[in-house]
Amino acid sequence: MLTDELRQTLIQTAIETRRWAYAPYSNYLVGAALLTSSGRIYDGINVESAAYSTTICAERVAVFKAVSEGEREFQAIAVVTENGGSPCGSCRQVLAEFGLDLLILIADIDGNLREEISLADLLPNAFTPKSLDR
Ligand SMILES: [Zn+2]
Repeated sequence: MLTDELRQTLIQTAIETRRWAYAPYSNYLVGAALLTSSGRIYDGINVESAAYSTTICAERVAVFKAVSEGEREFQAIAVVTENGGSPCGSCRQVLAEFGLDLLILIADIDGNLREEISLADLLPNAFTPKSLDR
Protein backbone atom coordinates (compact mmCIF):
# COMPACT_ATOMS: atom_id res chain seq x y z
CA MET A 1 0.00 0.00 0.00
CA LEU A 2 1.34 3.37 -0.97
CA THR A 3 1.14 6.05 1.70
CA ASP A 4 0.24 9.64 0.86
CA GLU A 5 3.73 10.64 1.95
CA LEU A 6 5.38 8.21 -0.47
CA ARG A 7 2.98 9.27 -3.20
CA GLN A 8 4.08 12.90 -2.73
CA THR A 9 7.75 11.94 -2.51
CA LEU A 10 7.54 10.11 -5.83
CA ILE A 11 5.76 12.97 -7.56
CA GLN A 12 8.20 15.54 -6.16
CA THR A 13 11.19 13.40 -7.17
CA ALA A 14 9.80 13.14 -10.72
CA ILE A 15 9.23 16.90 -10.83
CA GLU A 16 12.76 17.65 -9.62
CA THR A 17 14.53 15.20 -11.91
CA ARG A 18 12.53 16.43 -14.92
CA ARG A 19 14.86 19.42 -15.15
CA TRP A 20 17.53 17.07 -16.51
CA ALA A 21 15.35 15.88 -19.38
CA TYR A 22 17.13 16.12 -22.72
CA ALA A 23 14.38 16.94 -25.19
CA PRO A 24 15.70 19.53 -27.67
CA TYR A 25 13.43 18.24 -30.48
CA SER A 26 10.04 17.77 -28.87
CA ASN A 27 10.56 20.11 -25.91
CA TYR A 28 8.35 17.63 -24.05
CA LEU A 29 10.16 17.17 -20.77
CA VAL A 30 9.39 14.08 -18.72
CA GLY A 31 10.46 13.05 -15.25
CA ALA A 32 9.85 9.69 -13.63
CA ALA A 33 10.44 8.21 -10.19
CA LEU A 34 10.24 4.46 -9.63
CA LEU A 35 9.76 2.98 -6.16
CA THR A 36 11.18 -0.50 -5.67
CA SER A 37 9.89 -3.07 -3.21
CA SER A 38 13.14 -2.60 -1.31
CA GLY A 39 12.19 1.05 -0.76
CA ARG A 40 14.66 2.69 -3.10
CA ILE A 41 13.65 5.32 -5.62
CA TYR A 42 15.20 5.47 -9.09
CA ASP A 43 14.58 8.55 -11.18
CA GLY A 44 14.63 8.93 -14.93
CA ILE A 45 14.22 11.52 -17.65
CA ASN A 46 13.60 11.30 -21.37
CA VAL A 47 16.68 11.47 -23.57
CA GLU A 48 16.13 12.39 -27.19
CA SER A 49 18.46 11.83 -30.10
CA ALA A 50 18.90 13.51 -33.50
CA ALA A 51 18.18 10.02 -34.85
CA TYR A 52 14.68 10.21 -33.39
CA SER A 53 13.98 6.50 -33.10
CA THR A 54 16.80 6.03 -30.61
CA THR A 55 15.12 8.34 -28.13
CA ILE A 56 14.21 6.79 -24.77
CA CYS A 57 11.49 7.71 -22.33
CA ALA A 58 11.90 8.68 -18.68
CA GLU A 59 10.00 5.63 -17.44
CA ARG A 60 12.33 3.20 -19.19
CA VAL A 61 15.42 5.08 -18.01
CA ALA A 62 14.20 4.69 -14.44
CA VAL A 63 13.45 0.98 -14.91
CA PHE A 64 16.78 0.27 -16.59
CA LYS A 65 18.69 2.11 -13.87
CA ALA A 66 16.91 0.05 -11.22
CA VAL A 67 17.31 -3.27 -13.03
CA SER A 68 20.98 -2.59 -13.68
CA GLU A 69 21.44 -2.32 -9.93
CA GLY A 70 19.75 -5.64 -9.26
CA GLU A 71 16.19 -4.48 -8.57
CA ARG A 72 13.38 -6.60 -9.98
CA GLU A 73 10.28 -5.73 -7.93
CA PHE A 74 8.55 -2.40 -8.18
CA GLN A 75 5.69 -0.83 -6.26
CA ALA A 76 4.91 2.40 -8.05
CA ILE A 77 6.13 4.87 -10.62
CA ALA A 78 5.34 8.57 -10.85
CA VAL A 79 5.44 10.19 -14.27
CA VAL A 80 5.43 13.96 -14.53
CA THR A 81 4.89 16.03 -17.64
CA GLU A 82 3.62 19.52 -18.28
CA ASN A 83 0.14 18.25 -19.10
CA GLY A 84 -0.10 14.91 -17.29
CA GLY A 85 0.71 12.71 -20.29
CA SER A 86 0.35 8.96 -19.94
CA PRO A 87 3.19 6.43 -20.43
CA CYS A 88 3.64 5.31 -24.03
CA GLY A 89 3.06 1.76 -25.22
CA SER A 90 6.75 0.85 -25.17
CA CYS A 91 7.07 1.90 -21.54
CA ARG A 92 3.90 0.05 -20.57
CA GLN A 93 5.37 -3.10 -22.11
CA VAL A 94 8.73 -2.75 -20.34
CA LEU A 95 6.99 -2.10 -17.03
CA ALA A 96 4.81 -5.20 -17.58
CA GLU A 97 7.94 -7.32 -17.64
CA PHE A 98 8.17 -6.83 -13.87
CA GLY A 99 4.54 -7.20 -12.85
CA LEU A 100 1.12 -5.82 -13.60
CA ASP A 101 0.40 -4.76 -10.00
CA LEU A 102 2.58 -1.69 -10.43
CA LEU A 103 0.81 1.51 -9.47
CA ILE A 104 1.21 4.36 -11.93
CA LEU A 105 0.89 7.95 -10.77
CA ILE A 106 0.41 10.44 -13.57
CA ALA A 107 0.97 14.01 -12.47
CA ASP A 108 1.63 17.46 -13.86
CA ILE A 109 4.47 19.84 -13.07
CA ASP A 110 2.43 21.56 -10.37
CA GLY A 111 2.27 18.26 -8.53
CA ASN A 112 -1.39 17.62 -9.27
CA LEU A 113 -2.12 13.90 -9.44
CA ARG A 114 -4.08 13.53 -12.69
CA GLU A 115 -4.55 9.78 -12.59
CA GLU A 116 -3.64 6.82 -10.42
CA ILE A 117 -4.00 3.51 -12.18
CA SER A 118 -2.58 0.02 -12.04
CA LEU A 119 -0.47 -1.22 -14.90
CA ALA A 120 -2.96 -4.06 -15.37
CA ASP A 121 -5.62 -1.46 -16.15
CA LEU A 122 -3.30 0.63 -18.30
CA LEU A 123 -2.16 -2.36 -20.37
CA PRO A 124 -4.98 -4.91 -20.53
CA ASN A 125 -4.23 -8.39 -21.87
CA ALA A 126 -0.52 -7.66 -21.56
CA PHE A 127 2.12 -9.87 -23.08
CA THR A 128 4.21 -10.91 -20.08
CA PRO A 129 6.93 -13.46 -19.33
CA LYS A 130 4.13 -15.98 -18.66
CA SER A 131 3.07 -15.58 -22.27
CA LEU A 132 6.21 -17.48 -23.25
CA ASP A 133 5.16 -20.59 -21.29
CA ARG A 134 4.30 -23.42 -23.62
ZN1 LIG B 1 7.53 5.74 -23.09
